[in-house]
Amino acid sequence: MKLLKERILQDGKCFEGGILKVDSFINHQMDPTLMKAIAVEFVRRFASERFNKVMTIEASGIAPAIMVGFLLDLPVIFAKKKKPKTMEHMLSARVFSFTKEREYDICLSRDFLTPGDRVLFIDDFLANGNAALGAIELIDQAGAQLAGMGFIIEKAFQQGGGILRDRGIHIESLAMIDSLDNCRIHIRD
Ligand code: 5GP
Repeated sequence: MKLLKERILQDGKCFEGGILKVDSFINHQMDPTLMKAIAVEFVRRFASERFNKVMTIEASGIAPAIMVGFLLDLPVIFAKKKKPKTMEHMLSARVFSFTKEREYDICLSRDFLTPGDRVLFIDDFLANGNAALGAIELIDQAGAQLAGMGFIIEKAFQQGGGILRDRGIHIESLAMIDSLDNCRIHIRD
């Protein structure tokens, strides 16, 4: 997606350890016009899939997910990173955070993900795939089906994309980062 790639090259910043900072337009300050274009592209790429719900993980996945849900008039659910005391019928999975280098639990109420649901998962980044695998575990626990997974940015030099594609999952990433070596951003054409 040309617009996104140009924006990453213009405003993205590289950090030690292979981390790309995009907090001026995705992760902290958000650009709604770009986010809408991102959602339009996801809708186009998943047009052949059948799904009735959009799912993400808080917090950075919520903006693109809600834009997709809005365009398709579908409900959007997000897995929470802290277990609310009031949550009933909880599904939960353990995830290792790449950026925070620690484990955390994601949870979701069974009330909003049920057998028969077909889910499109949307998130900001795909790195080692741990967050995505946690989301798949929640979908499995609910007895729901995964229709596809869309990521704004995939860091192709990490293993997540390979793991998910090897499972036969329909993956779409709008920008593929081939390398962040020497703090230079190399995006695939
Ligand atoms: P994974 O679970 O695939 O290793 O990492 C995915 C999650 O980690 C994303 O949801 C995102 O929040 C975070 N993440 C991974 N790599 C990066 C990165 O380079 N930059 C930012 N901002 N977040 C990242």
